Amino acid sequence: MRDVRSTSGETTVVIGAGQAGFSFCARLRELGYLGDIMLIGDEHHAPYQRPPLSKAYLLGDMSLDRMLLRPPEFYPDQRIDLRTETHVTAITPDSKTVTLGDGTRLNYDNLILATGSTPRELPRSLSGGLERIYYMRSIADADAIAPEFASGRRGLIVGGGYIGLEAAAVAAKRGVKVILIEAANRILQRVACSQTSDYFRDLHRSHGIDIREGIGLEALHGKDGHVSSATLSDGTSLDVDFVIAGIGILPNVDLAQAAGLDCENGIKVDATCTTSDPAIMAIGDCACFPRNGARLRLESVGNAIDQGQLAAANVMGSNEPYKAKPWFWSDQYDIKLQIAGLSANFDRIIVRGGKAPSRSHWYFSGDDLLAVDAMNDPRAYMVAKRLIEAGKSPPADAVSDINLDLKDLLKA
Ligand code: FAD
Repeated sequence: MRDVRSTSGETTVVIGAGQAGFSFCARLRELGYLGDIMLIGDEHHAPYQRPPLSKAYLLGDMSLDRMLLRPPEFYPDQRIDLRTETHVTAITPDSKTVTLGDGTRLNYDNLILATGSTPRELPRSLSGGLERIYYMRSIADADAIAPEFASGRRGLIVGGGYIGLEAAAVAAKRGVKVILIEAANRILQRVACSQTSDYFRDLHRSHGIDIREGIGLEALHGKDGHVSSATLSDGTSLDVDFVIAGIGILPNVDLAQAAGLDCENGIKVDATCTTSDPAIMAIGDCACFPRNGARLRLESVGNAIDQGQLAAANVMGSNEPYKAKPWFWSDQYDIKLQIAGLSANFDRIIVRGGKAPSRSHWYFSGDDLLAVDAMNDPRAYMVAKRLIEAGKSPPADAVSDINLDLKDLLKA
């Protein structure tokens, strides 16, 4: 560890005032860093949480104040120079400078890239510059969508991932007639087992959502400059008032690439979150890190917080490797889905619970527990998370035994 006095006189610049950038800065000060910290973001707001954008905030159940990760006075109090509405246009590693949109150049000793990601857009040939086609990433996006959510309006949601499904749930609660299309064979195909897809398909259908799987978008048509109808890949034509596309995100790597940093599905970092330039780290959605001999990029709050905190410790000289402990959640209607672990490469699913809303799906590869999807079952989530983090795997028949208290699995 460095002596904190050695950090005096240094400048640490963070590009991206989102979850990861905020977590990094807050922890760096907690660890006693004495140098200047500059947190630069191109949005209007101070750092805020994104998950409520497709949940409580979109529904109108959460105020803007509560979205903020800290109140505005936190930043001057902590001597964090927060610059909002400021876009960084270039990084020059040789001179250790970043260039802002107005041409100002800032020097850094440590540079942290926390640039997040951007929603994948519908091809221009489809969207054709029409209005009322929305994406979901920022407060500005949610504010633009909210007025569309009025009773009787007809919304087309493209994409049956978590964002599309959450938006569908809010829209349904607001009385919107929703059609959700998913080009893959089933919703959540990229991220979950078929049992979880079935569970959420049934849930949405019970709330009146018209889910169509294996169906793509062929064309959008407009009237008076805004979208008015859609043609689907099966030839169906639909009249729609608006479209929300939730078709994935792309890591923001342009700055890093232009600066000559190695990128591969995100900005490549080593186990300590350091990029191919030793003075530059990358954290959060934009960072692609080594894990079990492969490379991984996670799009979650937990990862953004943990990498932010780890990078801060490493600036202070602790040189720790990142050990991802993946977790995620999603709220749809009155169901809270909590996910622990990563389910890739599972070969069987053990279902715990029956038809009741409280249920969990346990992903195994052989005898190894990989991940759990827990629906309204915080106990299953908590137990599974602890088991996975400890590298322990319970016997599959014990998991499916509904009479077993799951906490007993932790004693083994
Ligand atoms: P971001 O929070 O995206 O922050 C990056 C910031 O950098 C942005 O403000 C961006 O504008 C800024 N920036 C980029 N380039 C520049 C530049 N050149 N100059 C200046 N600023 C720049 N995760 C969960 O775990 N659970 C959930 O339920 C969940 N729900 C979600 C719902 C929605 C609608 C969305 C959009 C995301 C959700 N996520 C959820 C994902 C989670 O919010 C992200 O993984 C997390 O915010 C990533 O943090 P980040 O700091 O890496 O990126």
